[in-house]
Amino acid sequence: MDRKWDLKKLYTSFEDKQLIQDIEEVKVLLEDFKKYPELENTEDNLIQYLKQENMLNNKVERLFSYVNLVMNADTTNHKAIKYASILEDMLATFADTDARIQKWVASFDFQQFQDQYILEHLYILNEMKEHNQYLLDNQGEAVLASMKINGSSAWSKYKDQLISSMTVFMDNQEYPLTEVLNMAYSKDKDIRKKAYKAEIQSYQQVEQGVASALNAIKGEAITVARLRGYESVLQRTLVDSRMTQKTLDVLLSTIQKSLPMFEKYFQTKAQHLGYTNGLPWYEIYAPIIDIHNEYSYEKGCDFVIEQFNSFSKNLGDYAKMVIQNNWIDVYPRQGKVGGAFCQNLHCIQESRFLLNYGNDFSDVITMAHELGHGFHGHCLNAQTALNAEYPMPIAETASTFCETIVKKAALKTATPQQQLMILENELSDCAQVIVDIYSRFLFESRFIQKRENGPLSVDEIKELMIETQKEAYGHGLDHNELHPYMWTWKPHYYEADYAFYNFPYAFGLLLAKGLYALYQKQGESFASTYERFLSLTGKMSLEDVGKSVGIDLQDENFWQDSINMIAEDLEQFYCLLKQIS
Ligand SMILES: [Zn+2]
Repeated sequence: MDRKWDLKKLYTSFEDKQLIQDIEEVKVLLEDFKKYPELENTEDNLIQYLKQENMLNNKVERLFSYVNLVMNADTTNHKAIKYASILEDMLATFADTDARIQKWVASFDFQQFQDQYILEHLYILNEMKEHNQYLLDNQGEAVLASMKINGSSAWSKYKDQLISSMTVFMDNQEYPLTEVLNMAYSKDKDIRKKAYKAEIQSYQQVEQGVASALNAIKGEAITVARLRGYESVLQRTLVDSRMTQKTLDVLLSTIQKSLPMFEKYFQTKAQHLGYTNGLPWYEIYAPIIDIHNEYSYEKGCDFVIEQFNSFSKNLGDYAKMVIQNNWIDVYPRQGKVGGAFCQNLHCIQESRFLLNYGNDFSDVITMAHELGHGFHGHCLNAQTALNAEYPMPIAETASTFCETIVKKAALKTATPQQQLMILENELSDCAQVIVDIYSRFLFESRFIQKRENGPLSVDEIKELMIETQKEAYGHGLDHNELHPYMWTWKPHYYEADYAFYNFPYAFGLLLAKGLYALYQKQGESFASTYERFLSLTGKMSLEDVGKSVGIDLQDENFWQDSINMIAEDLEQFYCLLKQIS
């Protein structure tokens, strides 16, 4: 069986009459939206707007998702490429109308309305009102939008071009950067080291251009934040993330306290691999045990369904439905993108999953991760489109939660060697999401601070990167073998509209761990609490979503409990390592 996903529920092809009709309908809707800013502030007009907005979101999602899914399954599909640009052009003109509508919505006094549909959308409406204080006048918005095309957007594309055109020279041979980055996982130490040295060397080809892009994009972020009246670039990200500075501060201070624990992990790994001065950067992903844990797709599915069932029948049944209904594109093939993702399709109340399944236990974990995203979407199906969009920091929570279920179950029945491998993968991931993310947060904060006074030189940027890596990793890593160029290819620094795209990962991971700790305390009854929690993620502040299950995100103890779960894994890891070596 080739196990490709079934997209017919979206459209049967690009010739599907429904697709042509939907494009026409979106055009009509976009035109019709122009009327709102001129309408009176009546309850009926607001309800009509909300209903139309939900309808538009569903139609746009259906069209974009179809194009996107076809393109990811076959990157050479010319029709998909053509339709992607048709759709983008169609929506580009909407930014102006959208800003005007936001202002119109902000001019309402919502308190006077009793209609259920309005009450259901009160959070979104108030959020629009709050965001409105950061909008410029109509002309200002239009200028910003058009300048961005030749500003941050252009710089971001330029940086992508630089990085994708880069070649790395190793042993008189040329390699694409991605291939060399993958060598970090090689079983051969010489390859890992050589790849790292060659990689570092090769950035010199592009460092000036990439530094210019970073200076420009962050420079624009500073200017835009100031023009819009945000206190800082970070404050803008927090507003967009629906969370407070206090929550971030508590999260960061808990992370900071956990750094010595991770320092010990890196030092232990270093010693195990024969280093006395901390782990060199190129050994971060070095496998410490070499076993292949064969899991066919069928076996992987059975395992995931069984473990999901042990959490709740709903989660187990969900996984079974996804697998049986061919919502997953399973195996790698020519022309298909790499990696894995889940696309939630609120418009048809389903999801689709792309995997590159390779018959290893790590593929089972990836499947569980993506199914976790899908279940999050599933729990949001009863919400309207507007109430189903959740902010970045909570995006990885459901996926990490499902990963945790499967890993914990696998540990119970695994041999000591397998246990060591599972734990090493888990701890290495946690260290990345906590320690490396912390270094990236420090880097971006300080970069922006310095950027206020003008662009930074390549040397200054490299120095800053090393300084923040030393602070985050302590003596866990060898200070002579760090990575001064981590700012070059990581795409997150180059997102024009979302700065500090780093702490959301740590937030998501630790929230998932905290939820799992609650599950361990509450047992079976937690399953329904968990579903309710997920169903609320699109229509509340993160603090309130937490409160709905009794979690106080501003209480350090909550985050510390999550760190303690990692500490338990670490203890088991150290024991196993002693046993085996
Ligand atoms: Zn994910």
